[in-house]
Amino acid sequence: MTLPAEAALAQIASEVSVCTRCVLHQTRKKSVPGEGPANAEIMLIGEGPGFNENEQGRPFVGQAGQFLETLLAQAGLKRSDVWIGNVVKCRPPQNRDPLPEELAACNDYLERQIAAINPKIIITLGRFSMAKFLPGAKISQVHGQMRKVGDRFVIAMFHPAAALHNVNIKPLIMADFAQLPRLLEVARRELTKSAPAAAPQSAPSRPETPPEEPKQLTLF
Ligand code: URA
Ligand code: SF4
Repeated sequence: MTLPAEAALAQIASEVSVCTRCVLHQTRKKSVPGEGPANAEIMLIGEGPGFNENEQGRPFVGQAGQFLETLLAQAGLKRSDVWIGNVVKCRPPQNRDPLPEELAACNDYLERQIAAINPKIIITLGRFSMAKFLPGAKISQVHGQMRKVGDRFVIAMFHPAAALHNVNIKPLIMADFAQLPRLLEVARRELTKSAPAAAPQSAPSRPETPPEEPKQLTLF
């Protein structure tokens, strides 16, 4: 039986806190499992904990996190409206890139988090998160565009830290986040359409209308 989402997330967080599946456990202070409502419609997935996150055990609490909150506010969202996490849950030393074996070792936790939350939209922040959902994509070409991936939508955004380091990226990431309310409406509409009709066991009689063909949307 699948656990209710909240219990599943708590279970994952507790496993992550004692995880030794990769070498990143050796240098972590606090693991950062991710946080947010278990029924979030939007999941933001970054790269991995940095210095502040490793201290506090919470994702995106440094400068990049502050900017992320500004970006969310632009879309009329509060931090507490979305679920925020990372592809690796423990800080890579000196904020180096996560290694392939670390990404692989940690992947199952993220998969379980996604399954528990079942978000309408996954927003990738950074190269490694984007590569997981949109292999081969180039951020300069796909940023801000929503694509259907399996049962949900994925939007690759620039990493907020990139915008802090490169003034040319800042207006782009701001414009992309400003589109989020519109894209969320599209995602809600499309996923409602393609959702299997709820069929109660003892439904008395159902109208003889054929189910609508689910439309395969790939790009907006
Ligand atoms: N950058 C990330 O990618 N993740 C965090 O949690 C913080 C900064
Ligand atoms: Fe485990 Fe992931 Fe931390 Fe590696 S990064 S020790 S796989 S929780």
